[in-house]
Amino acid sequence: MKPRLDMFVFADALGWEQVQKRDYLKSLLPNRNRCETLFGYSSTCDPTILTGCLPYEHGHFSFFVKAQSESPFEDFKALAWLPDRIAAHHRVRNRISRWYAQKLNYTGYFQLYSVPFSKLPYLDYTEKQDIYEKGGIIGGQPTIFESWEDSAKVWCRSDWRLGDTANIDHARSEIEAGKVELLYLFTAHLDAVMHRYGTNDPAVDAAFDDFAKKLTMLADIASRHYKEVRIHLFSDHGMSDVSSKSDMMLRWNRQPWRYGRDYTAVWDSTMARFWFHNDRTRIEALQWLTQQPDGQLLTDEQLEAWGCLFPDRLYGEYFYLLPAGSLFVPSFLNQRHVPGMHGYDPSHPDCAACWLTNCETLPVRSLPDIFSVMKESCA
Ligand SMILES: [Zn+2]
Repeated sequence: MKPRLDMFVFADALGWEQVQKRDYLKSLLPNRNRCETLFGYSSTCDPTILTGCLPYEHGHFSFFVKAQSESPFEDFKALAWLPDRIAAHHRVRNRISRWYAQKLNYTGYFQLYSVPFSKLPYLDYTEKQDIYEKGGIIGGQPTIFESWEDSAKVWCRSDWRLGDTANIDHARSEIEAGKVELLYLFTAHLDAVMHRYGTNDPAVDAAFDDFAKKLTMLADIASRHYKEVRIHLFSDHGMSDVSSKSDMMLRWNRQPWRYGRDYTAVWDSTMARFWFHNDRTRIEALQWLTQQPDGQLLTDEQLEAWGCLFPDRLYGEYFYLLPAGSLFVPSFLNQRHVPGMHGYDPSHPDCAACWLTNCETLPVRSLPDIFSVMKESCA
């Protein structure tokens, strides 16, 4: 019997609000607190959990950016004539995404979402490499798995490409074998269910219950194979119910500025990011943006305080952010309404992540602290 198992369970979008509201897994994981999230999406937060670094250091934020030189999506110029309703179809998109990722040798998470084919030739993609593998972090930082690999302990982790059932089964067989000492379980089903139904729905309650049962089952099995089982459950961010939609992208498109000539923009679900190609457009467009009631332009001070003032303005010269509960419909990420969303002001209560554990650890107040606990566990 091995003396100790350290199990780190990542649950995408398991926010502190939901944990509190549901008294989630209180008896299994009694030590719990709110964990501050970051401005951005999982694409921003997950690299921070894996490296302990802030976004401006590790270089990850969102998937699409303005292409600095030649775009990897030049080919899409030939497809720009396709009617949007065909080009936007998710099956068409998924096929093309898979085929394109292979063609470009991308090993990271790759999805074209609803980015119009006509805009793709102006854009580049950031998460080209698998962030869980060595060399996957843009800033070059090693991830926690390199520390685990260098340690004397036996470790394993999920495959993020697989669903929760496969990953929980994998964790279970590793625990039953009784050799692993450090385990990273990746789960994303709660995120998917809350995007689909919002946070208040019987389907969401069922998903929470099911996940709790599975973690309790893993804990039970582990207790038979190890003297001490340390379980840590955490998330990258929370989830808001979407109560209002913004058609700002359509209004913007009716303005005189031309994409590619006057500006480049990426419309994420909850923020729009702009690069202006001439002073006249910059002045006029900023004036227009300030007049819109949908959300607000962020200041550099704000971005800096959030650790998101990127060198070379990689992710945009200007960021326009919607308030919690609001969604761009359409955007480059979604064509239609989505009941649950995240990616707002990180200080909003809905956005907070969580840290739940059954033991004493270093304090975890914000996402980089999770890395410190994972690092300490292999010492
Ligand atoms: Zn999500």
